[in-house]
This record gives sequence, structure tokens and C-alpha cells, in this order.
Amino acid sequence: MAYAATGIAVGAILTDVSAVSASAAVQWVHPLEERLEPSRPYGSGDYPQYSFHRGLDYGRETGTSVLAAAAGAVIFAGVNSSNAFSWAGNHVIIRHSDGWHSLYAHMSAITPNLLNKTVQPYSVIGKVGSTGIATGPHLHIEIWSSASRDDNVDPYPLVHRAPLSGENPTEPELQAESIVQSFNFASKQTVAAGGSALLKIGDDQVTISIGPSVAVAAVLTLSLSAAQNDTRVSLTPFYAHVVSGVVQSETSLWSQTEIIGTTATGVKIPIQTALPASRFLRVRVSVASNGSTLTVQQGTVRGTRFFT
Ligand SMILES: [Zn+2]
Repeated sequence: MAYAATGIAVGAILTDVSAVSASAAVQWVHPLEERLEPSRPYGSGDYPQYSFHRGLDYGRETGTSVLAAAAGAVIFAGVNSSNAFSWAGNHVIIRHSDGWHSLYAHMSAITPNLLNKTVQPYSVIGKVGSTGIATGPHLHIEIWSSASRDDNVDPYPLVHRAPLSGENPTEPELQAESIVQSFNFASKQTVAAGGSALLKIGDDQVTISIGPSVAVAAVLTLSLSAAQNDTRVSLTPFYAHVVSGVVQSETSLWSQTEIIGTTATGVKIPIQTALPASRFLRVRVSVASNGSTLTVQQGTVRGTRFFT
């Protein structure tokens, strides 16, 4: 009765779910037209400072088509602002043949007249966006093994390698390589109270250069301290796509806020992005203080780049 508890007005549609046999496995397909590594995995992973992530994120440009990951009936399509699904913005929930459900969140648009309709694998159900609580455009997909969100499972093994529409089955597997870089701020960088600055060593901006990749999943850990306790710090990684040494564009997919004090603190900043093609990345990080003066001592980057 999870839906009744959270107020979704689809109770009548769901009454038969508990009677559905779980024997017939759902045939999953990939929920996007191009397979790139997720921008954020399911679960807590390397980011215990965040709440448990009940889905899988695929960072994509706004307007990218979102596809039904399996055949089923659309039991919700729209915005549900009055309950536990308000974070999801424009979202669609599909009930599949064996009682499993999938949810697609943060969409910029939903295909009209979907509610109560049957969709097929690869049916376009909407467009990627950042509605609801999202720090940038991405598809957040969840898969539940029942009608209850409490029964969420990791979508990665189900949909990530599942077939693309018209996929060449001999597509090469992704390769992975570790990224380990560290920075020592010999003369500690300070950020003025109320100001912001890109991380620098001396006069040089700190840039994290990552070789040709289709996706990057890494963490920058910074040691920094504030002149006063309870200083609010905003950290924003900027991603530049670099082609032949020339920066093509620079974007920020999100920023995060931390409250820090006078004791040096290890702050973890995820550097995770899926790239539309095999590209070089350059990451710079901006640090802003909404309180007292900050001092940045050192940073390390650890993670993985994925390439074909
Ligand atoms: Zn998500």
C-alpha cells in the first residue's frame, strides 16, 4: 500500500499488482538511445555523505529522448508535488508484466496522453530535464521489484548492458583506467570572506586533466579550513571538453555546499560525468565562502575513467 500512503491517485490501477506473478522476467532494454556510463551509481557508493541513492543517473543534455526500459502500463505521468515524489519533477511510472515497476524522473517534458496507456520497449516517454530536485539535466531511473519504492533494486545490471534500439551486438566493452592525482598548495590558497576563487597553486589554476573518455567517475578530496566555525562553502567543478588541446566549452553540472569550521576538513567533491563522445576532460574547481576566510591546503583526485 505504498502508493496509498504517499498519496498517488492511482490506487485503483494498482489493486491488481499484488496478484501478478513474479515468474515472468521482464525483458529490459536500455532507457536511452546511446549507452554511456552513469553519472551517479545506485546506492551510497563512494559518497556516504549523501542519502542512499535509489536509482541510477545518466547525465544527458536537456531534450534527450527517454525510452521505456520494458513493456508495461503507465500508471503515473506528471508531477506529484504533494508527497514523497516531489523530488522527481515530471516523472513516469511504468508497471511491468511481473509486477515490477520502473520510474523515470526529472524530465523536461512527458509524452502527451501516456497515462493508462501500454508502452513498448523503446517507446519515447519523455525528454531529459532537471525538473524537481536536480542539480543538472539527467535521467534518474529507478526499478522496483514490486509496486513499492521500498523494493528498489540496482538498475545497472538490468538496463545498462541491455540492448539499445538497433544496437550492433558486437559493440566493444568499455575499458577502465585509474585516475590518481594530488595537489599540494605549498603556499596555502586563501579565499576571502564572501568571495570565490578557482583553485590555484601559485598563479596557476588547478586543472585535473583526464584522457579520452566516454565517462568519468572520480572524487576530489580537498583539505580546507575556515577562520570561523560554521562557514558555508560552495564547491563547483567546471568541466571543459577539450579537442586537440582547445577548450570547446566549459560547463558546471552541479555545485555542492558544505559547512566547515576551523579544523581542516576533508571535503569530497564528486567528479562524475558521461560524455557524448570520447573526449578529453579538464576539470577546474571554484570555491566560494559565504562566511569567513577559507584556507585550502591540499587536494587529491581518485577515480576511474572509462574509454572504448
Ligand atoms: Zn538520481
